[in-house]
Amino acid sequence: MTCTISFLPVGNADSIVIQTDDSMIVIDLGNLSVLEEWIEQHQITKIDRIYITHAHGDHFPSLIKLTTFIDNYQSKIKIEKIHLPYKVIEIATQKMVSAQNDPKNGKLRFALKRIKEWYINREIKHSPIFLDGENYSDKILKIEPLHPSQHYIESHFGLDKSKLNEISVVLRVVYGEFSAILLADIEGDGLTELLQLKTEFTANVVKIPHHGAWPKNGEDLKTLLEFIDPEIAVLSVGSKNQHGHVKPELFDALTNLKSNSLKRLNQFICTEVTRTCKSSASDCSAMDKKGLSSTEKCAGEITIIAEDSGKWTLKTETNHSNVVRSFDYAACTERADLI
Ligand SMILES: [Zn+2]
Ligand SMILES: [Zn+2]
Ligand SMILES: [Zn+2]
Repeated sequence: MTCTISFLPVGNADSIVIQTDDSMIVIDLGNLSVLEEWIEQHQITKIDRIYITHAHGDHFPSLIKLTTFIDNYQSKIKIEKIHLPYKVIEIATQKMVSAQNDPKNGKLRFALKRIKEWYINREIKHSPIFLDGENYSDKILKIEPLHPSQHYIESHFGLDKSKLNEISVVLRVVYGEFSAILLADIEGDGLTELLQLKTEFTANVVKIPHHGAWPKNGEDLKTLLEFIDPEIAVLSVGSKNQHGHVKPELFDALTNLKSNSLKRLNQFICTEVTRTCKSSASDCSAMDKKGLSSTEKCAGEITIIAEDSGKWTLKTETNHSNVVRSFDYAACTERADLI
């Protein structure tokens, strides 16, 4: 028996699928067509949980696209429950009430109606998810939210759109002795809050937050990564991103962790190639924050196959080490020597 965690190559976005003999879990819907292809290929017949970590478009396409996606699959796949972003239904409902006769809102109105019908007919449940809220568990697999607490959201966030990353849902996946921490897009004050959690953070695998951004409180991210002390760090990053991801500071932090003999990290790996992997230092600074002109897979789909003993193996869609060897600066080996 194994637990596989697959990080799909969805660009600067997240879409993660977790499978055991008993469970099928989806975390974030960063690119629905990639996920749909994966679902077809793997002949999925049920999804126990869909977690949407926060309401940014690279994790959550929209209520309209979500309902279309589910309606397309509902005859083939049994979906049990969706953990929607905080207050997303309430915000959409308010919008409907304040613009009742606006024909542009027809699709959203229909989406809300479908979600309500699923709920009333007991087809698909939905709820937000908080720290100390509902854990998912089957025989061996457990998924536990570590952030945010309901109190944190209500006292800190309100409905401030600029703080969505800070309240993104951080999940711990436990399979016997194996564990992974998925950091969504956590940053800023949310990251500091997470660090204060009185919990054992150690995990075999970490998903680096926010597609390789470097938060203003980078020291907190460094400390968190030291606490987690992962054996592998996975970056879900897009070639065409124009944010300068993956940031050199993050590569520095990961490189330092990797060379620290007291720490376990021995690999960090990206789904797609970024400008940092491909270009010489001078090219990189000339390119400023522009992404690459086309998508190129680095590892492509990254799959961790874990046993309950804690042992795990890595499978990549590309022959990742060959991809890396062809670059001047392979970012996922060590950071580019940027000027
Ligand atoms: Zn985000
Ligand atoms: Zn994101
Ligand atoms: Zn790579």
